[in-house]
Amino acid sequence: MTAPDTTRSESLFARARAVTPGGVNSPVRAFKNVGGVPRFIASARGAHLTDVDGQTYIDYVGSWGPMILGHDHPAVRGAIADALTRGTSFGAPSAGEVELAELVTRITGAERVRFVNSGTEATMSALRLARGFTGRKYILKFRGNYHGHADGLLVEAGSGLLTHSAGQLGTSAPSSAGVPEEYAALTLVTEYNDPSGLDALMRERGHEIAAVIFEPVVGNAGVLLPTPEFLAALHRVGERGTLLIADEVMTGFRLSPNGATGLLGLRPDLTCWGKIIGGGLPVGAYGGRAEVMDFVSPQGPVYQAGTLSGNPLAMAAGLATLRQLQADPGVYARLEAYTTRLAAGLRDAAREAGVPLTVNHVGSMLTAFFQPEGQIRTYADAARSDTAAFAAWFQAMLARGVYWAPSQFESIFVSAAHTDLELNATLDAARAAYKGA
Ligand code: PMP
Repeated sequence: MTAPDTTRSESLFARARAVTPGGVNSPVRAFKNVGGVPRFIASARGAHLTDVDGQTYIDYVGSWGPMILGHDHPAVRGAIADALTRGTSFGAPSAGEVELAELVTRITGAERVRFVNSGTEATMSALRLARGFTGRKYILKFRGNYHGHADGLLVEAGSGLLTHSAGQLGTSAPSSAGVPEEYAALTLVTEYNDPSGLDALMRERGHEIAAVIFEPVVGNAGVLLPTPEFLAALHRVGERGTLLIADEVMTGFRLSPNGATGLLGLRPDLTCWGKIIGGGLPVGAYGGRAEVMDFVSPQGPVYQAGTLSGNPLAMAAGLATLRQLQADPGVYARLEAYTTRLAAGLRDAAREAGVPLTVNHVGSMLTAFFQPEGQIRTYADAARSDTAAFAAWFQAMLARGVYWAPSQFESIFVSAAHTDLELNATLDAARAAYKGA
């Protein structure tokens, strides 16, 4: 294999590092976990990315989730172009916001929805709302789940650094500098997929917990699926007046028309969305029961606002994406079929090469964990993976034109633009990459 040409990416990365921390605007893009030069992308179409050195890749990142239809989908591009002719931001309500809210409430069963600009804003706002509604201070999250970078959520956010402080059950330290311990102390943490741990924490402290926030299917520790027992324990939190907040930023509109909620039969009080709901433009949203949502200003006392919230271009992109998905009910089955075949192919290739591998997948989300075949259900399970072997495989895939997620602890995303052509090319690359060829 000749080394890929990265001349222009390298030069842009050097310029970027001089003016931006680490050269990137979101950490995982820097390839720190896998080494090598991050590819600067010049353009994207369908299932493919093209970098500034002219190399084309089969894309399994999909902008970390939004691009479920593939890049540059004509319906989405057309909707944005059409909206563009009418102006880019009004700071006043417009029809697109109503139409997208009507569609989201119809698909998801949420009675009210509020648009924000990112997944981080959605979870941050939903938690403030839960605290305002219940009059309680504490929130509960699960180890290794990621809910964006609001202060109180950067606790055990997929990282291993934990010190149980003050001997209080479930209390833990921040996983980022700059988060005061006093904030982190309001976030209780327990293990994902541990129903008895959750029950115990709720028994002891449920009366002071405003909300339990969770990834219904985890993508941010690699893909982890919830057990039925864990889902049942989640539903029990309502018995103590605690709100259940499903963070569907990654899974919403991806795992089914109504995300993981639809797939798993969940009944959350509030749901957070992002990624697909903006069709590749910056959008987040939170929604749920009217009784709770009507606590949000100006209807209620919980303040939340945004200069660009409900932006007309973003609403147009989100509407076009959701309408396209609605118009093609077979799309979810096709996405799942591709992903299932990808999983099987990766397993077979790894076995043939003698590489230990466990593949977790659901719908169009998949993680290939470099560890012996077995059950991976918690962050601690995922953390046993051989990250050096993953990094080597990642580089070998990249050199063969496959852009995998540049971290062992992330999901990859399949889009509707991925066809048999991409599947076969990916598995050819994977076979060679496992063999270290
Ligand atoms: N929640 C989940 C489940 C996510 O996966 C992410 C982002 N990957 C976020 C929240 C934060 O979203 P954003 O990056 O748009 O702020």
